[in-house]
Amino acid sequence: RLQGKTALITGSLTGIGRGIASAMAQEGANIILNGIDTPEEAENTRQELEKMGQRILYYKADVGNVQEVTTMITDAQKKLGSLDILVNNAGIQYVEPIDTFPIEKWDAIIATNLSSAFYTIRAVLPFMKEKKWGRIVNIASVHGLVASAYKSAYVAAKHGLVGLTKAAALDVAEFGITVNAICPGYVDTPLVRQQISEQAKAHHLSEDEVIPKVLLAHHAIKEFVTVEQIAAMTIYLCSDACKTLTGTALSIDAGWSAQ
Ligand code: NAD
Repeated sequence: RLQGKTALITGSLTGIGRGIASAMAQEGANIILNGIDTPEEAENTRQELEKMGQRILYYKADVGNVQEVTTMITDAQKKLGSLDILVNNAGIQYVEPIDTFPIEKWDAIIATNLSSAFYTIRAVLPFMKEKKWGRIVNIASVHGLVASAYKSAYVAAKHGLVGLTKAAALDVAEFGITVNAICPGYVDTPLVRQQISEQAKAHHLSEDEVIPKVLLAHHAIKEFVTVEQIAAMTIYLCSDACKTLTGTALSIDAGWSAQ
């Protein structure tokens, strides 16, 4: 279904991004991988995806750095000949009450989770406009719609990302380009595993108590959302059926934001 398309997925060496990249390669898209994990992890992911028969490139660009983002996008477009789909997925998390929340964590989260999408969108638009077709999917979060305690920077960045999604959708509407956000509840990925100890400390709980009492507390369906479910939703947003679906924030949160 994505035959002949090229997709850039930021933060695609692990977790949700890797799942989206893999599902898109399976659908026939050439893939631009990105992430700041180890070179071994990058090469493993690249080789794994290459088995599906598409062209797979990897760039170790920091998405919070406009120079690195622009160089990645210009170079990859030159090598692969087009850039049709952008998935802004790279993101980081840090959990601490606001009064002691470290300034440098705030700056890093805003740069990685919000400013990054502004940089990538600006850089891909010339290529999408030229083709009069493009799909931009921002992986926001249920925290783009509602807040949780101790996540001031993340909640602010994700609400910002939902706002950016709406604004960008209007700016590019006449060019056959759609911009949407996906707002997942908790997904069992390295990002979530890493915050279990922070959550335990902030909520004065044991690590075992964090999954039922904090992570799944707001899921009406008491399960994690899966990477595969988010990948399927992303691919749907890239289909022709979604030509007029733009500027929305779609929840996949096990019923969290219905409450
Ligand atoms: P993850 O930690 O498994 O993956 C994040 C990826 O982003 C990694 O590949 C990492 O290398 C990359 N990355 C981090 N900082 C980067 C930077 N500065 N430049 C380039 N790449 C960078 O996390 P995940 O759970 O798969 O999260 C992916 C996205 O989904 C994030 O935006 C996250 O906020 C969002 N999200 C996750 C959940 C969840 O429960 N896991 C829920 C809602 C939204």
